[in-house]
Amino acid sequence: MKSVLITGANRGIGYGLVKQFLKSKTDHVFATYREMDRSKELFDLAKEHSAIIVPLQLDITDDASIKKAVEQVEQRLNGNDLNCLINNAGTTTKLRFSNINEKDMMETYRQNVIGPWKVTKAFLPLLEKAALHLKQRDIKQSSVINISSIMSSLELAKNLPYYYYDYQCSKVALNMLTICMGKDLEKKKIFFSLLHPGWVKTNMGTDKAPLTPDAAAKNIIECLQAITNDHHCKLIDTRDGKKVT
Ligand code: NDP
Repeated sequence: MKSVLITGANRGIGYGLVKQFLKSKTDHVFATYREMDRSKELFDLAKEHSAIIVPLQLDITDDASIKKAVEQVEQRLNGNDLNCLINNAGTTTKLRFSNINEKDMMETYRQNVIGPWKVTKAFLPLLEKAALHLKQRDIKQSSVINISSIMSSLELAKNLPYYYYDYQCSKVALNMLTICMGKDLEKKKIFFSLLHPGWVKTNMGTDKAPLTPDAAAKNIIECLQAITNDHHCKLIDTRDGKKVT
């Protein structure tokens, strides 16, 4: 794909993705961050590759910030297509049944579900334009990739030792959001899918996780290269390319 936008790209898996897309010779990598002071590595890399990496301020829960990011992307693309939106930004409180409250539940839902919904809606005209002349969906031409988690699996949930209420419920909702949008927009020929990146060493995944962000991002890119229309609206484990139920 020639152009991609990744949310939450200043650290963790999102930043790993920026580095991997750079290797895969993408023309435009729009890498979003919330706060400059948490994004030094991204800015340093963008300085080295200013023709490709475009850091963009974006809070996925803030309408004004989303609108501004869309305008900046349009300006930079200068009539070219945006091929892929990766809704990667996400959060968790890691709270359990005994200590989670309504405010935490609502806030994680706002970040993990409402955010990707708003961002997708805002970038839809650009993705629709990229899909305009397609006969069938083509991930490389026009796609929305939502980073979910195997923790949203209804099958797996039957046997987990403990449950993160806000996170797991929000990722199940993200899965449904992806299916609803993917199906509703079927005529537009935009490819939608959900990816599980594995357990990754990030702020969210902690140091105990087996995968580095770079390795997880490499798996994601390989998975994106391998998936077909058969994966439309499906959750895929990027470690082995298998569908998750
Ligand atoms: P991190 O906590 O390391 O990074 C989260 C990223 O999301 C940061 O860039 C953060 O920005 C950004 N973000 C959070 N809220 C917002 C917001 N409102 N607007 C814009 N950006 C925001 O997490 P990971 O890299 O581990 O996770 C990335 C994705 O992968 C998430 O969706 C997560 O659920 C999923 N995932 C992660 C797994 C893991 O083991 N790590 C396993 C399965 C799924 P800021 O720096 O400003 O806070």
